[in-house]
Amino acid sequence: MTKLPLNEIFESIQGEGSFTGAPSIFVRLQGCPVGCAWCDTKHSWYLSEEHQTDFNSVIAKAGDGESWCHTTVGELVAHLLGYKARHIVISGGEPCMYDLVELTDALYDNGFTCQIETSGTFEVKVNERTHVTVSPKVAMKGGYEILDQALIRANEIKHPVAMSRHIEELDMLLARLSPEQLAAKKVYLQPISQQARATQLAIDTCIERNWWLSIQTHKYLAIQ
Ligand code: SF4
Repeated sequence: MTKLPLNEIFESIQGEGSFTGAPSIFVRLQGCPVGCAWCDTKHSWYLSEEHQTDFNSVIAKAGDGESWCHTTVGELVAHLLGYKARHIVISGGEPCMYDLVELTDALYDNGFTCQIETSGTFEVKVNERTHVTVSPKVAMKGGYEILDQALIRANEIKHPVAMSRHIEELDMLLARLSPEQLAAKKVYLQPISQQARATQLAIDTCIERNWWLSIQTHKYLAIQ
């Protein structure tokens, strides 16, 4: 029986990418060694024994705590069925540190649709219907490379951008895909931290390249 480390569950509106506007249940798994300097979920990095607790405490907590628990697929899916939304967003942390086939199979078996958000630095192991969003984290402190398997499996590639160097990074990643593989994906630029210059760069580049703009609408709306 697979056990997964859970940081939090909350219901909201998906604020970015292809599912923008979709009522969604966010399942944040604990653990990430990638080390992005600007990460806004640093509380999800470590699997420390000090912060390990039980399922009910994790479900009940409010806000960004480091507390986490081990959960089973059965326990998790039974809990998710109590919400109204039927779209699940599995995030982290880095959720692809874990084999998510059993969880995503169970979600589809129970009538959910499912999306996963990953940095592209771990092999993606999910149900074939799962919508995979790769937001590539290139040359971060943890020293992880972006994997071909993750790029090829991605349904959308959503690249965080603040400066032209980030566009060049994305070009290098996309050059690893065949024209057929690339044609099967949506490519998004997402300005980092709502910076005005980053937003303008993303808009200009999307128009020039025929890519899509992803805005973190939940941050403008000040919702979780
Ligand atoms: S991969 Fe995601 S969770 Fe991990 S450090 Fe980067 S932004 Fe944070």
